[in-house]
Amino acid sequence: MAETLGFIGLGAMGAPMSRRLIEAGYKVIVADLDKAALDKAIALGAEAAASPADVGSKAETVLVSLPTPDVVKQVALGPNGVAEGSRVKTFIDLSTTGPRAAIDIANGLKAKGIVPMDAPVSGGVGGAVKGTLAVMVSGDRATWERLEPVFKVIGKPFFVGEEAGQGQTMKIINNLLSATAMAASAEAFVMGAKAGLDPDVMVDVISAGSGRNTAVTDKFPSAILTRSFDYGFRTELMYKDVKLAIDEAEALGVPMWIGQMVKQWWSYAYSRGGKTEDFTNIIRYVEEPVGVEVRGRRNTKPE
Ligand code: NAD
Repeated sequence: MAETLGFIGLGAMGAPMSRRLIEAGYKVIVADLDKAALDKAIALGAEAAASPADVGSKAETVLVSLPTPDVVKQVALGPNGVAEGSRVKTFIDLSTTGPRAAIDIANGLKAKGIVPMDAPVSGGVGGAVKGTLAVMVSGDRATWERLEPVFKVIGKPFFVGEEAGQGQTMKIINNLLSATAMAASAEAFVMGAKAGLDPDVMVDVISAGSGRNTAVTDKFPSAILTRSFDYGFRTELMYKDVKLAIDEAEALGVPMWIGQMVKQWWSYAYSRGGKTEDFTNIIRYVEEPVGVEVRGRRNTKPE
């Protein structure tokens, strides 16, 4: 019989990841503050727990997909946290928390006899639904080998290293590049639109050319040219990831000229868009002073 897994955080990413685990035959014990998210998971076959501690009393392996480092720490080690559970042996963090928080949380978990694993993911909600996420795992090698089949249900796992935080460093480097591509592509597309170029043609040309990046191949066609701004990742979270990357670069003594500017762009978008806005809205803050709109003509929303 497949192992029982705990899963805490059933948001944009956690809902589809936990769904895939249920569909793969795992018994999944879930917790979330949002009752609607919990009800959806129960309807798919998950079993609800009363608290993170209760999840840790019902499953040896607990995965979390939570918004910020502080929330992960609270859920792992706070009052009524996973570490208070009676069965938990392994804690897998799928969230983006940065290496410093990951090391801090890992030390707290190790002190309680729990094996910590970093496993942040990349590939967006679409990748979570399809099970094609890049999963960046670090921690104990034997635990990685044992849990590889679980990671394979949610995507393509990579073993980054045995140190706590290494998977997180990999992830924030990835997201710094993703954030850079988004901000730079927004400026480039507004320039093209102002000059009279057709945004659909720009997507086709750049996707076949050397300017190709995931903002242009995926995010622009599905959420910007459609003006739906619903890709499934919040500006708040992108800003968090860029800040984590720049903080880490500073701690390592690595200059980040471009990275600092990218951070300013996301800080500005966050100040304009607040906590709930999708990150694809960043282009609106480039369009606004220029007086153009990057709108497509064809329906490019994926099924
Ligand atoms: P989300 O805000 O949609 O989901 C977070 C979930 O956690 C929500 O359901 C919320 O109710 C729940 N939650 C918050 N605090 C809680 C607590 N104390 N106890 C229990 N549940 C709690 O966020 P998301 O977009 O799913 O992102 C989750 C993590 O994955 C973040 O760290 C994010 O940076 C990362 N990530 C997101 C994407 C994406 O495209 N959305 C891609 C890769 C990585």
